[in-house]
Amino acid sequence: MTREPITAQVAPDIAALVGLPGSRENLPTPALVLDLDVMESNLSAMDRLLAGSSLTLRPHFKAHKCLEICRLQLEHGAAGFSAATVGEAEKLAPLGTSVLLTSVLASETNIARGADLRAHAQDVTFVVDSVPVAQRLNAALEARACTAGVLIDIDAGRHRAGCASIPAARELAEAVRRSSALALKGLQFYAGHLSHLHDPQRRAEGHAQFRSDLARYREALSEALPSSPIISGGSTGSLALELEEPVLTEMQCGSYALMDVEYLALPYSPGRAGWPFSAAVTVQSSVLSGNWPTHATADAGDKRFASKYGHPPRLTRVPPGITLESASYTPTGDEHGRLDFTDPSPPQPGARLECVVPHLDPSINLFDIVYAVSGETLIDVWDIAARGC
Ligand code: PLP
Ligand code: MN
Repeated sequence: MTREPITAQVAPDIAALVGLPGSRENLPTPALVLDLDVMESNLSAMDRLLAGSSLTLRPHFKAHKCLEICRLQLEHGAAGFSAATVGEAEKLAPLGTSVLLTSVLASETNIARGADLRAHAQDVTFVVDSVPVAQRLNAALEARACTAGVLIDIDAGRHRAGCASIPAARELAEAVRRSSALALKGLQFYAGHLSHLHDPQRRAEGHAQFRSDLARYREALSEALPSSPIISGGSTGSLALELEEPVLTEMQCGSYALMDVEYLALPYSPGRAGWPFSAAVTVQSSVLSGNWPTHATADAGDKRFASKYGHPPRLTRVPPGITLESASYTPTGDEHGRLDFTDPSPPQPGARLECVVPHLDPSINLFDIVYAVSGETLIDVWDIAARGC
């Protein structure tokens, strides 16, 4: 590792831990811990999967919100980043890479911020899903004497965003054509509702429907679209299906770099063995009280773990005297969690445990900094730069 350590501003006692063998066990808890070796293996696995495929990767920044992780993704060939909010896009600006804002900007203030980014020469592409939104974005760009590429966002069946019919998409394409500051580059077709389906049959069927819907929209909009349109979408959960039969040109996978309990509980693809990615981030906590024969209390609670599908955090490290197989961890309050075990020796106060987060994106957003470790050694401390943005 040749990079300059300590990106985040941290207290001198934490800075002193960098490079110190065994320092992973001495972090101030609760701490978000990033295993650099596991992340590197995930990024390399993605390189191998995409090698020889027509897909480019535009990783979603919302997953980790950390610029140092972005830099590693760029070294691994990322074609730029996806951003969920204009605040995330602003934070990405120092990287100087292209950004696709995957959510529609609708309020005047957010449209103004997005147009300001373009005016400052940021390579940002917007999505639009209605004529008024396109017109207002166009006006804001014209007022700043700049232009931007746009993708027409199509509702791929989740009914969260996107044009809901072919006539609506055609009308929008026509409005974009008439907008002097907007250039139509392609489509966004994101099917998040298919990413977390457990039933392999339903996943495969959903993806088949996704393919045929996309083909219908592409055909209906073919005259408005450029000859090689960008077709952007995809997630970690749809990667395997997309690799089998690509219909997108660009994947927006985010979670693959760090993973979470919810993804790892799913099959990687219908009928295929385990995931090519492993959990690279954990929350480290300390035992506060071990006064009971079958459980102890530690210092990471609801403020450190976000869960969407009801999965608890998954233990990866337990205090001495306790076995992983016998133990489980449940957040029980804002600041507390309960470590249950059947082993006969309760842990000592201060003993460490680590858990994989149930749902990555919202859990990362609960921390200001991440401790980057290799093995047992703290290597660097990075800002979660876009936390809260
Ligand atoms: N694209 C969009 C529009 C998303 O909302 C998300 C995540 O919710 C992703 C891509 C990335 O998905 P994942 O983290 O599941 O790979
Ligand atoms: Mn997610």
